Amino acid sequence: MIESCGVPHPEVDLILVNGQPADFRHAIAGDADIELYPAGTRVPEFKEKRLQPTTTSRFVADGHLGTLARNLRLLGFDVAYDPQAEDRQLLDIMKRENRALLTRDRRLLMHAVVETGYCPRSQNADEQTVEVIRRFDLLRSLAPFTRCLRCNAPLRKVSKAEVIERLEPLTKIYYEQFRRCTGCGQIYWAGSHFSKLQKRLEQIRANCA
Ligand SMILES: [Zn+2]
Repeated sequence: MIESCGVPHPEVDLILVNGQPADFRHAIAGDADIELYPAGTRVPEFKEKRLQPTTTSRFVADGHLGTLARNLRLLGFDVAYDPQAEDRQLLDIMKRENRALLTRDRRLLMHAVVETGYCPRSQNADEQTVEVIRRFDLLRSLAPFTRCLRCNAPLRKVSKAEVIERLEPLTKIYYEQFRRCTGCGQIYWAGSHFSKLQKRLEQIRANCA
C-alpha cells in the first residue's frame, strides 16, 4: 500500500498505524491513520521498532551514480560500481555481498529483494554524498584516501623503493609517500590534484555536520 503511493520500502523507517508501531506485514483493516517516517528523522519514540538498519557501510551504486561512487570510495567506503551493470546484476551483488543499494530509480528500490537502500534526492554528486553519509550515519567512519578509486580495493602504504621504477621522473624527485592498490596495483601519492580533492572532501564533511 505504501509503495502504491510511490514510496519505496527501504525509505520507510517507522510506520505508525493509529499511533501504534507496525511493520511491513501489517494488514490494514478498515479506516486507519497511517504515519510514515523516513530514516534519520528525530522521532524519539519507538526506537526498537525501526525498520531500517543503520550499520551499513557497504554499497552498490547504479550506473548513473558514478561520481557518487567515486566520492564514497575517496572517503574510504566500499562501493561496488559498474557503469554497464543491469538491474538484475545490481540486485545480485547487493544480495550476495550484503550491500545497500544506491539508486535514483524508485522502481528498482521497490523490488522485494531490496532490504536496505537509498534514493539520493539531489542531482549533484557532492550533495548526494552528504545525503548518503547522513542516511547511514557514516560521519565517524570516514577514512579518506584508503581505497582505490578505480577498482574499490583497499590501498596499502608502500615505501618509495618498492614503486620507484614505475614513477615519472618528477614524481620521483618531489614525493616521498606512496600507497598502492592491493587490487589493480595503481600507485597513489599526494600530487597536484590532491589539495583540490582534499578541499572538496572538507566541504563535504562540513556539510554533513
Ligand atoms: Zn585498484
